[in-house]
Amino acid sequence: MTSTSPYTRTHTCGQLRSSHAGARVTVAGWVDSRREHGDALVFIDLRDREGVTQLVFDLEDCPKDVVDASDKLRGEDVIAASGVVRVRDGGANPKLETGEIEVVVDTLTVLSKAQTPPFHPTDKDSLPNEEIRLRHRYLDLRRPRMQKILRTRHRASKLARDYFDEQGFLEIETPILCKSTPEGARDFLVPSRLQPGAWYALPQSPQLFKQILMVSGCERYMQICRCFRDEDPRADRQAEFTQIDLEMSFVTREQVMDTMEGFARRLWKEVLGVDVPPLPRITYHEAMHRYGVDRPDTRYGLELVDISDIAAKTDFKVFTQALEKRKGAVKAIRIPGGAERLTRKMTDGYSEFVKQFGAGGAPVTKRGEAGFDTGVARFVEPIRAELDERLGLEPGDLVVFGADTFTVCARALGELRQKIARDLGMIPEGAWNFVWVIDFPMFEYDEEGGRWVAMHHPFTAPNPDQLDAFLRADAGDRDAIEGVVSAGYDLVVNGSEIAGGSIRIHDQAVQEKVFRLIGLSDEEAKEKFSFLLDALKYGAPPHGGIAFGFDRLVMHLCGTDNIRDVMAFPKTQIGADLMTRAPGPVDAAQLKELHVVNTAQDKPA
Ligand code: ASP
Repeated sequence: MTSTSPYTRTHTCGQLRSSHAGARVTVAGWVDSRREHGDALVFIDLRDREGVTQLVFDLEDCPKDVVDASDKLRGEDVIAASGVVRVRDGGANPKLETGEIEVVVDTLTVLSKAQTPPFHPTDKDSLPNEEIRLRHRYLDLRRPRMQKILRTRHRASKLARDYFDEQGFLEIETPILCKSTPEGARDFLVPSRLQPGAWYALPQSPQLFKQILMVSGCERYMQICRCFRDEDPRADRQAEFTQIDLEMSFVTREQVMDTMEGFARRLWKEVLGVDVPPLPRITYHEAMHRYGVDRPDTRYGLELVDISDIAAKTDFKVFTQALEKRKGAVKAIRIPGGAERLTRKMTDGYSEFVKQFGAGGAPVTKRGEAGFDTGVARFVEPIRAELDERLGLEPGDLVVFGADTFTVCARALGELRQKIARDLGMIPEGAWNFVWVIDFPMFEYDEEGGRWVAMHHPFTAPNPDQLDAFLRADAGDRDAIEGVVSAGYDLVVNGSEIAGGSIRIHDQAVQEKVFRLIGLSDEEAKEKFSFLLDALKYGAPPHGGIAFGFDRLVMHLCGTDNIRDVMAFPKTQIGADLMTRAPGPVDAAQLKELHVVNTAQDKPA
């Protein structure tokens, strides 16, 4: 049995073409705009998620009640209209997909009136500030651009499910109310009503559940899951975000990477029509040396070049003092033609810029026709021939130096490299440079805390050829520990990390050694991870996996650098949902039930 109503649509607002001329149709949607043409005609652009269709009310032929109703229509009113399709008189509007036709309306139903909205949901006018958009997200999401993003996001998740299903992955849900399992960030906590004083944590990622699923014999797991990390605000982060989370059993690093590469290739092809060639690989060590970051943007040159051996021959204190430090280094970037393209003001700014990364400054000099002739020329002139050769310098080039510990120097110049590329417009449009970064160190030494931290997470295995060295290494032997390479891998595109993962430890003794090394006592390890350590005792297959940052993937696919654009209901930098006003106060009675005392209750919200 079919039932119809005045708003039972025959077509969407994006569907009608000249081939429909003469057909009787019903369309429904929001009034995008209303125009009067003399005394005879009223035009309404009607919008739904598929597009815009022009409605025309011919005031002479149209029933009086319809004319009266059309008179009162305002932007964002919701209506249904029926009438006959005709080819437009004055020629097609090339800007609209339905631009060849219009619907001559004879029946109109007003489904809902709209107050004057705080802004018009169009991509044409300038948008109000983001706060207003977020407060009225229902209006903001009506914008065609936002509708397109929501659709692309849906497409990407569907492609992920299809691809991984074809590869034999099972989608398995894991709990949201969990035990706190450290992944490096702060937990969101939820009090237990039934167990006074006990708390759940929201998952930072389903890491341990997916590993347990491998021990359970599931072999291939995937989940498009929410993760929660209570981190300090950063422009491209949200505390609540989505991952495509994956784990596989009986695989090597190569097999995981191949499977994931296939997914990235499918996604870029299907969504953007881009053929991604086989992905190059770079070791962490090489990435840090050449690009100063572990997520290198390989779309342009400006590589960092180590000149420590040459710099040691100067009596430039900035260089020599850096080289006296433990793991001191001097590095340089050649900026081709930089002498003309960068002003003194800009290069002075670079010295300031690198300070936020712990460097003292960024000395510069220009390679003139006869030799170095500005900035720190005096100090580097004695090593000119060697610098010319190592950096491939030509007259007109600018050279910028970094000198400090290797870590500070690489980081500062790595960040500066990206800034210079942006300043000089060196980043090619439309390029997609993917790269796998592999062979990370397993551990980093946290100088401030005086302790070892796992570079990926503490469940990451050493590379198979490193296992013996790891088991032999003494916690006090800094070089030995620093030298252990993990079986971790990150997928990077255009300088942004879109996925990260590793082969995991599946041996209880190795896992225990890692816990001890990162400063967990055996008791703490047991208290936090006994379930994992127990599971590893009862037959664990070798396994490994990865997680794609889904929001970031969609940002790339949609060409936006605002993470809030790709989430239907994002939060602000201070974690506020401006539409629903979360977080907000709760009743004292609710807190009492949860056995929680609100120590902030007297403070203003
Ligand atoms: N759980 C890790 C993360 O969230 C990813 C992984 O190792 O699979 O970064």
